[in-house]
Amino acid sequence: MRGAVIHAPGDIRFETLDDPKILKPTDAIIRTAVTCVCGSDLWPYRGAEPTEHAHPMGHEYVGFVEEVGSGVTSVKPGQFVVGSFATSDNTCANCRNGFQSNCLNREFMSTCQAEYVRIPNAQGTLVATDGTPEEKYWPGLLAVSDVMGTGWWAADAAEVKPGSTAVVVGDGAVGLCAVIAAKEMGAERIIVMSRHGSRQKLALEYGATDIVTERGAEGVARVKELTGGIGADSVLECVGTAQAMQQALHSARPGGNVGFVGVPHEVAVDGQELFFSHVALRGGPAPVRRYLPDLVDRVLSGAIDPGKVFDLTLPLDQVAEGYRAMDERRAIKTLLKP
Ligand SMILES: [Zn+2]
Ligand SMILES: [Zn+2]
Repeated sequence: MRGAVIHAPGDIRFETLDDPKILKPTDAIIRTAVTCVCGSDLWPYRGAEPTEHAHPMGHEYVGFVEEVGSGVTSVKPGQFVVGSFATSDNTCANCRNGFQSNCLNREFMSTCQAEYVRIPNAQGTLVATDGTPEEKYWPGLLAVSDVMGTGWWAADAAEVKPGSTAVVVGDGAVGLCAVIAAKEMGAERIIVMSRHGSRQKLALEYGATDIVTERGAEGVARVKELTGGIGADSVLECVGTAQAMQQALHSARPGGNVGFVGVPHEVAVDGQELFFSHVALRGGPAPVRRYLPDLVDRVLSGAIDPGKVFDLTLPLDQVAEGYRAMDERRAIKTLLKP
């Protein structure tokens, strides 16, 4: 089979790889229906994370079950399945507590920009749809495997409630999906921090009520202005930089909640400042598996359409261009078709 391999920053190649095999009875092999490039793939692509040796890439997927190990009974060959970027047995104590992305048997996906993928912990990880969904739903279901699940977690962690005010920091695919989540959870006012015209447009379509283009202290001042001088009930931090985290912490009201889902890079939180702010902070890799059945239903019923975050579709063999387009901000998110 063929798939994407990173050799060094900026160097993604589409290569012939060994076909994945069942290694454990709990594995399944899927044939990729569609996959994509994630904002977090840009960290190694830009050299912000080291690439010590060449390795496959990709952690977002939907596909058709090709083969299952002897311990997998929940899905069978031929079924269309959605999973999470973090695999889980869905039975251990952490899974039962709803934190499947911290499963005691967790394995992160990392080989999904390929024609076939081995899914560890398949029994607990994969959710089969009722029949094969129409192709128009595939991008939305693919979004559920990471960015939509992560946006949902941001809103959940920030405790968005009906009638509340939410601020979304970041207008990438996760930020845009966080707008969908805040809207679905009943936020009355959704303020999005964004400087890009096309992303603002989609944010408004998804339910944003206000756009703030300022950053840093000016951005915080603008949020305060829009929230009666005290800040927002919930802030959804969807970037992962020091500046975004400061923006988020300073935009929440005393007693408010910050959900942070951007993988932190050089983020430091001042303990004294946090103490005196009365702001609660919760983040981490999204427990997508907890939300999967619900989010799959919302996509297939047409209640939400997170698939619109894919504004570039390429054949899988042009994966390198998919990375380039996102790196150069010509695309929000690239969908790849095998
Ligand atoms: Zn991702
Ligand atoms: Zn578990």
